[in-house]
Amino acid sequence: MTSVFSGFEAGAYGVAHQYADLFWRAGGGSGGGRSSGGSSSSGSSSGGFSSGGFTSSGGATGGAAGALGALIFGGVCLFIVVIFVLVIMKNAKHGGAGGAGSAGLPPEVLAAMGGAMGGTQLGNNPHASDITTRADIDTGIGQITARDSGFNEADFLSDCNRAFFTIQQAWTERRPDISRQVMHDGVWQQHKFQIDQYLSMNKQNILENLAIQNTRAAAVHTDEAFDTIVVRFFASCADYDIDLSNDKRKIVKGDKSISDWAEDWVFQRSSRATTKPNGGTMAKKCPNCGAPLDLDLAGICKYCKAPVMSGEFDWVLTRIEQLPSYEMAQATLPQ
Ligand SMILES: [Zn+2]
Repeated sequence: MTSVFSGFEAGAYGVAHQYADLFWRAGGGSGGGRSSGGSSSSGSSSGGFSSGGFTSSGGATGGAAGALGALIFGGVCLFIVVIFVLVIMKNAKHGGAGGAGSAGLPPEVLAAMGGAMGGTQLGNNPHASDITTRADIDTGIGQITARDSGFNEADFLSDCNRAFFTIQQAWTERRPDISRQVMHDGVWQQHKFQIDQYLSMNKQNILENLAIQNTRAAAVHTDEAFDTIVVRFFASCADYDIDLSNDKRKIVKGDKSISDWAEDWVFQRSSRATTKPNGGTMAKKCPNCGAPLDLDLAGICKYCKAPVMSGEFDWVLTRIEQLPSYEMAQATLPQ
């Protein structure tokens, strides 16, 4: 409580950075990274693994020795093929920005999520979020503004900061209904899953003194289907878990030392969508009907019933990628 509310009050004094403190918690951690999760692809790969490799050898019981041997041999071959495919899939998944797993929140959180925050990017262009050069970014922004004259980079990044804090708030307060207003379906499901785990353990992850040092566009891409902008957040906070099972609020993981960290957040929308003059989702307004943003857990506007979080109407967060280090994030920022 100290952390969250003290950060908030500080923000009220007008220092944008400290404003961040409040919500940061949502993400997870400070730069270090809780290692609990592992990387993103673990979930899906284990599933394929068991069904492919092991079942077949189980069925081999009955036959003669020769048949059994052939089955085992076949099973081993299948096993090898499955592993091979999984390795390829895993590598392909990380082809983009050169980051570690996918993130979503502070490094720790993302790591804990097992990279779960990634992999839901819209469209079928796996290179849409590849980090390029500042000149490429300017070209992409020019293409977007040619179609959407209301768009400008500074306002967009300001909206992204707001989205960032919204998600951190959701995380800290363990309220996935809040992050639903920013996140596309896949990334939100993962976010909610993590929050549910904290709830079930009766723990809370605190991102104390959360601050954004810098917010920059790292890639901009537009095609006939989607606009894609990768936003790189440079942030810092302390990151620790507290046990809520008694009044002591004991720290059970992490500590109060502040670490720097960086993440790439992928925002996308339909390339037919345009900037709303009075503000869209990131200003907490329905981009379809203009009402104050009030969504059900499916991402549907309660007023006009539009599927607001589909990306059809406005920007939504589709992916979070954790970067290995703050330094790396700086060194690879397009200049
Ligand atoms: Zn609406």
